[in-house]
Amino acid sequence: MDGKIDLLSMTIEELENMLTQMGHQKFRAKQIFQWTNKGIKDIDGMSNLSKDLREQLKERAYINRFEIIKKFVSNIDGTAKYLFRLGDGNIIESVLMKYSHGYSACISSQVGCKMGCKFCASTGAGFVRNLTSGEMLDQILTIQNDTKERIGNVVIMGIGEPLDNYENVVKFLRLINHKDGVNLGARHISVSTCGLVPEVLRLAEEKIPVTLSISLHAPNDTIREKIMPVNKRYSIDKIIEACKIYTEATNRRITFEYAMINGLNDSKENALELAGRIRGMLCHVNLIPINTVSDTGFKRSSKDKIAIFKEILERYGVETTVRRELGSDINAACGQLRRSLMDEGQLVF
Ligand code: SAH
Repeated sequence: MDGKIDLLSMTIEELENMLTQMGHQKFRAKQIFQWTNKGIKDIDGMSNLSKDLREQLKERAYINRFEIIKKFVSNIDGTAKYLFRLGDGNIIESVLMKYSHGYSACISSQVGCKMGCKFCASTGAGFVRNLTSGEMLDQILTIQNDTKERIGNVVIMGIGEPLDNYENVVKFLRLINHKDGVNLGARHISVSTCGLVPEVLRLAEEKIPVTLSISLHAPNDTIREKIMPVNKRYSIDKIIEACKIYTEATNRRITFEYAMINGLNDSKENALELAGRIRGMLCHVNLIPINTVSDTGFKRSSKDKIAIFKEILERYGVETTVRRELGSDINAACGQLRRSLMDEGQLVF
């Protein structure tokens, strides 16, 4: 935006430095932070700042703003899917899910993705750019302001690979965790990754003990390489080693995501092999009936096969859940809506 800086992407310390440079007092930083983190979009609405300071701020800064292009609400379970247009015209999506314990938002971390997982809807169109920390935060703020509901859980599981946008994601975690902002505890935040080992190890050191979800999807490297090119860089052994270091540093239980794909990774042998590798770890497995994406050729495993897989893992003491499907009538699974509109030629880049 004309060389201007987005206030939503700024920490209190960065705001303090900017205010000092502008010849204003530091304590104003907290006031500005509180306004932006409430979702206010107009600098003139910051009523406890002087007119002079507001004018100066407008000259050098703006507040990120999304256009809600579309909002789909499921008739089945109230899940809401948002399609946002970013300031530069790019499009991302976020999902709001309602659980008995409150609202949870699934947000995107990049426009597109570089990882190339074969079953994933987000990868087809390739990678465009990273989201800024303000753009990640604004997915939460815009949904909260739209629904007037407080979001109590955030999962970074939408479009993109969060650990491939490490700096901005960690900055976002600090922003959303801040007591003067949304004030969301690390325990209420999950980061989902395809397993970028060096970044998992870095995250372990950040002192923000978020839940780490690892998209494993296979019991061995041979199967994983068929569906996830990233496995050529980081093998399952290396990922498991990094997970152990993460739990040691944070005391948090790892979630292994496992998309059940018919005939590929869903046999009894696959379950046994997986159990053998992860039993005894502080972890649990979340089985995901895969969402069929056009042209990928992957089909979802039957309910029976999923139940047998779960039973075998549990027999070995590995806690296992099957992901409840939400918003199936509105294409709510990550990346699916953007992708289906692209397939229909409705999204042009
Ligand atoms: N890049 C990150 C986060 C985004 S993907 C990651 O890999 O974890 C979020 C989750 O959805 C991942 O577990 C991903 O593997 C899974 N996923 C992607 N496409 C899917 C599909 N068609 N059906 C079910 N799960 C899918």
